[in-house]
Amino acid sequence: METRSPEETAQAGAELATRLVPGDTVLVAGELGTGKTTFVRGACRALGVEGAVTSPTFTIGQVYGGRAAEIAHVDLYRLPTLAGEDPALLDDYLTPERIAFVEWPGIGEHAIPRVAARVSIEHRGGDRRVIEIE
Ligand code: ADP
Ligand code: MG
Repeated sequence: METRSPEETAQAGAELATRLVPGDTVLVAGELGTGKTTFVRGACRALGVEGAVTSPTFTIGQVYGGRAAEIAHVDLYRLPTLAGEDPALLDDYLTPERIAFVEWPGIGEHAIPRVAARVSIEHRGGDRRVIEIE
């Protein structure tokens, strides 16, 4: 699909969220500034998260309280520079009880147990983005 504003991308996230159950992980790929966090924020709002939803800066992830489940939000962009690169790092975030979103999944993808959907977002100039969900 094509979106023309951050709100439309958030809405796409919200729509995907309605299909997720605990234990599901959604991979969100795309270059910097394409709207990965915007998409995840829309999904998190639909799942009942009320506080700030931002890419974590000093850790690979964070956990929010949602309506029916906890939501893990992981961003692996800086993983190569984080000490250890231990795949078990993800175990702190991805659990059978949580719904999870992973930005920049590439480097950690092999360690992700239950991928419910793969989202990729591309720039199309200005505020236009193309979002593929499979
Ligand atoms: P990422 O997590 O991929 O680095 P962010 O979601 O943090 O991206 O930032 C995307 C930026 O692009 C935001 O500043 C947002 O307002 C802007 N933007 C403009 N148009 C769109 C769009 N159609 N979808 C998502 N974000 C958009
Ligand atoms: Mg981000």
